[in-house]
Amino acid sequence: MPVPRSLPELDDEVTFARYPFLPQASGWIRSMAVDHAIDLDELLDGSWMEKARSRARIRLIDSIQSKEGVEVVGGDLFTEEGRIIEAFSFYYARLVVCASEDERLIARWAQAEAARAEQILIKDIKNIEIIARTYVSELERKEGKGGRGAAMNIGSGMGDMRSLRQSQSGPVWNIGLSDFIEICPKITGARWRLPNCDVNKGWVTLFDEPTYGSSAKLARLLRERIKRGVEADALEKMTEITTDLAIRLAEPVGMVRNLMSNQASEAIALVGADESDWPPCMRKAASDLAMGVNLNHFGRLFLASMSAVLALPKESCVNFFRGAPDFSESTTGYQVDHVYQHGYTPSGCGKLKVNHNCPVLPGDDRLCDQPWLDHPLKYIRATQRWKARNQPAQPAAAPPEAEKTPQPDEAQPAAQPAPPQE
Ligand code: SF4
Repeated sequence: MPVPRSLPELDDEVTFARYPFLPQASGWIRSMAVDHAIDLDELLDGSWMEKARSRARIRLIDSIQSKEGVEVVGGDLFTEEGRIIEAFSFYYARLVVCASEDERLIARWAQAEAARAEQILIKDIKNIEIIARTYVSELERKEGKGGRGAAMNIGSGMGDMRSLRQSQSGPVWNIGLSDFIEICPKITGARWRLPNCDVNKGWVTLFDEPTYGSSAKLARLLRERIKRGVEADALEKMTEITTDLAIRLAEPVGMVRNLMSNQASEAIALVGADESDWPPCMRKAASDLAMGVNLNHFGRLFLASMSAVLALPKESCVNFFRGAPDFSESTTGYQVDHVYQHGYTPSGCGKLKVNHNCPVLPGDDRLCDQPWLDHPLKYIRATQRWKARNQPAQPAAAPPEAEKTPQPDEAQPAAQPAPPQE
C-alpha cells in the first residue's frame, strides 16, 4: 500500500495513549514500561496493572459485541496513570487476541480498534492531520467550503445525496488517487466508487456533505489503514507467543472465544435450521459477516440473492449483515428489499471463485469437487435430495462423507429454485 516514506513527528503523550497503535507511540510506551517497572509479569498478574487488564477486557468484549467498535471512553488521559492504563490495556488486549491464534478474532479486534479510532478522529481536529500523514502518502488540506453542488451518478441507497449543496465550513481534504484507489474497494457505498468522486490531477476531493463532512470521510479512510496496521502487528506478534504465555492467558482467551462462538451461532440460528444444507460459500459469507469480517460487494450480493431464492425472511437476511463493520439498518434494509424485489439470480461457482468468495480447495468438500457442481443452488438441491431419501430410513445416523456425495445423475436438480445464469 502507498505509505509515507517517513513518519511525521509526534510527542504528545495524550495522543499516544488515545491512539496506542500509532507507530510513533511505541517509544513512549517502552519508556513508560521502564519508568514504572511494567514487565510481562506485572502486565499479566501484577496489582498495578489490574485496571489495565479490566479496561482490556472491556476493549475485547466491545470488539465482539458492539457494532461501533471499542468504547471510546477510557480513563482520564490527562493524568499519567490514566494514560498508562489506556495504553497498556491496548497491549494486554493485543496479547490476548494473539494468544488465541485465531486470525478471525484478530481481524475482528483490529476492526473494532480502528472503528474506535475513527470515532475519535472525526472530532480530533488537532490531530487528524498528523495521524492521516502517518497512514496516507498524499494528503492536502484546504480551508473553506467544500460542498459539491452537482448531482452524482449513483446507485441505490444514496437518494439523500442527490441534493447535495454547498455546505459545511472547515477543512476539506484531498487524498492522493493511489491511496484512495487502494482503500476505497474495502468500503461499501456508492460515494466511495471512483466514478462518483471528484478526481482532479491525481487527487480525490473528500467534499463535504450535509451529514458527512470531509474530516469524517478522511477518518473513514484512515480506519481501513489503521485496521490493516493493527492487524498486521498482531499477526506478527502472534508468531512470538510461547506455550507458557498462551497458558497464562488461557482464561481471557477462553472468554473471548466463547463470546465469538455465541455471537456466530446466534447470527446463524436466526435463519432457521437448514443451514446445514448450505454450500460452504454461503456458510462462509454468513459467518464472516457475523464475525465482523468485511465481505466484498460480490459476496454480499451473493448472500442476499441466495437468501431471496431460498425464501428466507427479509429480516433474517438483514440480520446476516448486522455484524458487518459498516452495518446500517436503513441502508441494508433498502438494499435487501431491492434484491428481493428484483429476483437476482445468485452467481455460479465460476464467478464466486473469481471474486474470492469460494472458500473450498480440491479435496475440502466432496460435493463441491463433483464435476457437475457449478452452482451453489445445485449443492443445496443435492443435499436436500440426499436427505429426503436417507433421513427417514436412518433418522439418527449422520451420513458418512462418502455416502453423502450424490452421483451426478441423481444430484442434478429436477427443478432449480432459480435457473443459474452465469
Ligand atoms: S464450489 Fe461452488 S458451491 Fe462449492 S463452495 Fe465453491 S462456490 Fe460454493
